[in-house]
Amino acid sequence: MLIETLSVFPELFEPYMSTSIMGRARARGLFDFAAHDLRDWTHDRHRTVDDAPFGGGAGMLMKVEPLHEAICDISSRGECPPRVVFFTPCGEPFTQEVAERLSTCERILFVCGRYEGMDERAYDLADERLSIGDYVLTGGELPALVVSDAIIRLIPGALGNDMGSVDESFSTSDDGGLLEYAQYTRPADFNGSTVPDVLLSGDHAKVAAWRRSNAIERTCRWRPDLIDSARLTDGERRRAIELIEQFHPGDDQAVSDGEAIDE
Ligand code: SAM
Repeated sequence: MLIETLSVFPELFEPYMSTSIMGRARARGLFDFAAHDLRDWTHDRHRTVDDAPFGGGAGMLMKVEPLHEAICDISSRGECPPRVVFFTPCGEPFTQEVAERLSTCERILFVCGRYEGMDERAYDLADERLSIGDYVLTGGELPALVVSDAIIRLIPGALGNDMGSVDESFSTSDDGGLLEYAQYTRPADFNGSTVPDVLLSGDHAKVAAWRRSNAIERTCRWRPDLIDSARLTDGERRRAIELIEQFHPGDDQAVSDGEAIDE
């Protein structure tokens, strides 16, 4: 996989992309990375990438011409065109499901905004627009790093262990979109706070059952909105409805009406 970024601050990416899991996965050739400077596609002395918005208003907007020229030029290089992903608070919410989908792309170009955003016509070149949450950042560089991290750790072998990321929160594979179960390491007793006995038992089947049950319980407590789409047995779903009623009494939005249970 080749991940590229287009931004006015290309120097922001390299430290993260060459450190820890990202750095090791890159060194092992599991992905390649290139940061492009948008100003390389300007043609004036000041290398201008922004201008005032028509109609007035605060701040500046990124101009369409350098963005258009840069994206077309970068896309024409190499053997396959990239999937062009723009970052904007107005985009589709980024989720683990989107990360799983993007992790199968051969080449991705992340286009990062700055200032008050972009001339709307720049989005004509977008294959998709992503938001990393309902808040406003100063630029798209952090979103590009967030999404890159989430994608790269899904590449087989990137985490450097056999387990990979299938057990993790939100994973759409085996666990079916639940939060991850609670985990513990040594000491088994920390100031009187002890680890559940079953995790010390060495009985793998019992450990697996406890983890499943714990994952459902934690999801009902902290993210009841995930339960509707989670892959649960009928028995698990009945228990989940009881748990949500227990954790969120009187919250009609949190409590499913149970219609999803197939009798
Ligand atoms: N005026 C824009 C608005 O209200 O939607 C916000 C522009 S923001 C200050 C500048 C750039 O940061 C955006 O063009 C986008 O690339 C990036 N950005 C900020 N918040 C973001 C978010 N939640 N998700 C994705 N990108 C974001």
